[in-house]
Amino acid sequence: MIYKKILVRYGDLTLKGRNKKIFINKVISLVKEKLADTKATFEYTHDRMYITLNEESSEEVIKRLNRVSGISSFSLVVEVKTTDDLLEVKKSAVLLINEQIKHKATFKVETKRADKTFPKTSIEISQDVAGYVLKHCENLKVDVHNPQETLYLELRNGVTYLYLQAIKAMGGYPVGVAGKGMLMLSGGIDSPVAGYLAMKQGIEIECIHFESTPLTSIESAQKVIDLVKKMAYYAPKNSIQVHFVPFKELHMALLENIDESYNITIMRRMMYRIASKLAEKRGVLCLINGESVGQVASQTLGSMHTINSVTNFPILRPVCTYDKNDIIKIARMIDTYDISIRPFEDCCTVYVPKNPATNPTIERSVEYEKRFDYETLVEEAVNNTKTINVSIDTNLELSLLGLEVRNVL
Ligand code: ATP
Ligand code: MG
Repeated sequence: MIYKKILVRYGDLTLKGRNKKIFINKVISLVKEKLADTKATFEYTHDRMYITLNEESSEEVIKRLNRVSGISSFSLVVEVKTTDDLLEVKKSAVLLINEQIKHKATFKVETKRADKTFPKTSIEISQDVAGYVLKHCENLKVDVHNPQETLYLELRNGVTYLYLQAIKAMGGYPVGVAGKGMLMLSGGIDSPVAGYLAMKQGIEIECIHFESTPLTSIESAQKVIDLVKKMAYYAPKNSIQVHFVPFKELHMALLENIDESYNITIMRRMMYRIASKLAEKRGVLCLINGESVGQVASQTLGSMHTINSVTNFPILRPVCTYDKNDIIKIARMIDTYDISIRPFEDCCTVYVPKNPATNPTIERSVEYEKRFDYETLVEEAVNNTKTINVSIDTNLELSLLGLEVRNVL
């Protein structure tokens, strides 16, 4: 293959001053982390990064670049020395086109001349190179208005980069620049997608999972770890901290004391309380969850209002306006879907009430909560939380978590 380098374009650089520098440094460090165990090497300028493949497979490098938020696009490029007669550029253009474009096509050349000392204008360069290419590539015809193929030339610092396409990347902001959030991670489809979207927007995540073993199976806890392993591909250092909150006691207290129709409402109020306390303890600035308006009884606006009233923490709901198909599309892309649909129950799916309240009130919730000493149980749950670090190659013995095991199979 003729390509030896990849040119990487950073995302939203309308940011100014110091922020821009922080943004770029973060993208650079993420790219280095993702490519650490490859042969690729790097150079960077104030607005670009150049990756030299050094015999590494371009597919592998591209796969990894697609996990870096804050990159807007990248291109496989050929780099040649710029001379006044552009001879190397012309010869490489022909080699590149012969290798990459086998079919008959209309084409044009588009030139960006960052190097203003070069004696020809961009238009003159395009015309000159296009003339040469046309003479040597019989399958091409010029169409400057609506070409099927475009050969891009960029002249910078004595060299010219040639490429045929810009591949759209993740976009967003480099994960970490926006600070940290606490993702409420269930074993479902929506919350991992919410976590991915938060990371894409620059938020580094920690995960909190409420586990009710042995009311729920050990497999549902395993699901959470497997989901985090997939999300970790997008995280700094390829790893994410997960807080397992023992929820069994609270869960039993709810089943004992709360009217069935309010069970989920109160359960979720408890989850918000615990997540807020833990977030505060960890210096994390927001909660994130996978709620989507109208999806289930606990996600009507009325329910969300009543549940949300227990905390002042900002709660981000990245998928709140997405329909299920859009969420599933992203879940498939980040490879969490098949894990999410494994049929193990978690604390929200076990003992599902037949008639959950779709418009629960704060007043009634507060009344129900007077029936048991939830504050102590919340405090205990926070204090007995177990935290583990999950990375893309974690091979974790769940017994290390000391969970009581009930196999459902
Ligand atoms: P998911 O969104 O993951 O598919 P869900 O659609 O089944 O879950 P709910 O059970 O109503 O929806 O939960 C809504 C959100 O609450 C989840 O997206 C998740 O953020 C959070 N959540 C639910 N159960 C748990 C749990 N056991 N631990 C942590 N967070 C949870
Ligand atoms: Mg779900």
